[in-house]
Amino acid sequence: MIISFASGKGGTGKTTVATSFALSINDVQLLDCDVEEPNASIFLKPRFEKSEVVSIPIPEIDKSKCDFCGKCAQICAYNALAVLKDSVLIFPHLCHGCGGCSLLCPQQAIKEVDREIGSVEIGKAGNLKFVQGKLNIGEVMSPPIIRAVKKHIDPHRTVIIDAPPGTSCPVIEAIKMSNFCVLVTEPTPFGLSDLILAVEVVRKMQIPFGVVINRADLGDEKVDTYCKEKNISVLMRIPFDRKIAVLYSKGIPLVAEKRKYREKFRDMFNVIKRIAHER
Ligand code: SF4
Ligand code: SF4
Repeated sequence: MIISFASGKGGTGKTTVATSFALSINDVQLLDCDVEEPNASIFLKPRFEKSEVVSIPIPEIDKSKCDFCGKCAQICAYNALAVLKDSVLIFPHLCHGCGGCSLLCPQQAIKEVDREIGSVEIGKAGNLKFVQGKLNIGEVMSPPIIRAVKKHIDPHRTVIIDAPPGTSCPVIEAIKMSNFCVLVTEPTPFGLSDLILAVEVVRKMQIPFGVVINRADLGDEKVDTYCKEKNISVLMRIPFDRKIAVLYSKGIPLVAEKRKYREKFRDMFNVIKRIAHER
């Protein structure tokens, strides 16, 4: 079973919830797909055993074959190529590595070369299997890294995916194929507005989902009211607690100190399995 943890906005406590959930159940593999800022390892402190480079193929022009017809630039949807009178400019950071230009070049003047954009690290934290993706600084293309992380999914384990915040392409790449998505939010106007967007995304993707309300006793009732109106399961409410904030600041998982939450997360897992099964 694949359970992803997402949030419409950053700073809701998504990683705190995902890591503590992972530590509360057995036979887990956690994939940190928040590749621009992977921080699940701060809480889980895995021992890394392996690392892989992630690259995308970008075009390289053979000027001796190119007749500067301009077809490659015309088909590139990402404006990664510009053809001038006697040269072809490549903008590597805009290239999505789709291979379209090399396929369509009438002169076979384009070959593909690998450009490194990040890495995947594989390790273990006790019995928990851990994989994280890291996008290199200055790079913008996180979906290939997320796909590279997800290639390591262990079908024999419960897979927890810590997705990036937001509702754009990287989130969709991270949560697709999930059996369930946990949306972590907070009871504030921003929390509600981003939750509404996230709910639209998971509904469109037809992924069963539920909500965890973090710092539940701060803010207002509007997230609760919205969930009630839209018939959305609230899986857990975590109250604001200064001690939890201190644990977070020290990189200590919530369930390491507040052990009663292990039971709560196990109950939440049972509810998730029931909802996913009903679908
Ligand atoms: S399509 Fe091929 S031949 Fe035409 S400009 Fe691009 S690289 Fe040159
Ligand atoms: S590989 Fe795709 S994205 Fe990259 S330059 Fe060619 S057409 Fe554009």
